[in-house]
Amino acid sequence: MNLRLDGRTALVTGASRGIGRAIALQLAEAGAKVALLSRTEASVQEVAHAIESYYPGQALPFVGDVAAPQLADKVVAQITQLWGQLDILVNNAGITRDTLLLRMSEEDWDSVLDTNLKGAFLFTRAALKPMMRQRWGRIINISSISGITGNVGQANYSASKAALIAFTRTVAVEMGSRNITCNAIAPGLIETDMTQSLADSVKEYALQRIALKRFGTPEEVAYGVLFLCSEFASYITGQVLVIDGGLTTGI
Ligand code: NDP
Repeated sequence: MNLRLDGRTALVTGASRGIGRAIALQLAEAGAKVALLSRTEASVQEVAHAIESYYPGQALPFVGDVAAPQLADKVVAQITQLWGQLDILVNNAGITRDTLLLRMSEEDWDSVLDTNLKGAFLFTRAALKPMMRQRWGRIINISSISGITGNVGQANYSASKAALIAFTRTVAVEMGSRNITCNAIAPGLIETDMTQSLADSVKEYALQRIALKRFGTPEEVAYGVLFLCSEFASYITGQVLVIDGGLTTGI
């Protein structure tokens, strides 16, 4: 056995930058054909070109909002039409709208829950159809340690990421008999656009609490995804893999 994914096809949401981009590149490097989705055409095309330049014929870009009606069904239908199958789904698209609860608007709440949770629901429901036919599937939901511990200013985000863990466990028990596994990854602080805007004082405070004394890289999250997609993880389902450099250990 090895970590190769030759002959597999994958769909990664939020693949235009950060963790999603690293996951898409990692899966392509492992031999999978990878469909990519984000709202910004130029950046999703850039990632598709990056994959195609090394691995011709292995990238398929899509543009859209994960929570848009009918989009998930259309994207999955196009992938299965072109590639004949969909084996791996990575629900990675996510946003933050951080503010203290008393100042949080309904729009702040709805936009975060729609993208982080409803988007994962819509894409999982669509992907399960081909996966059930194939009797093989791997679904990876990118949650967060905020969904385990809670976090000041992130009532909406933490709620969405905690719900994603409960969603993961439910999909795992509903789909186990079809040889479809569903797991979550809970990253800690990873160097991406999402954490770029954090105040220096917040970063300093976090660094003191991270056992490994540094932020993680998007690639270090992608390695976890690759493992969970591989045959090495064939008996792992309904679990949460925490990739946080020890931030939550000892809390
Ligand atoms: P980024 O902000 O760097 O990237 C987010 C990606 O999601 C982009 O490709 C963005 O593209 C896409 N996206 C956002 N909203 C939508 C939408 N409605 N529909 C389709 N695509 C969308 O974030 P990260 O890479 O840091 O985060 C990736 C995931 O990891 C998220 O779920 C995040 O919550 C989670 N995470 C991140 C952590 C971190 O420290 N960075 C820690 C814990 C979890 P576009 O704007 O073009 O649509």
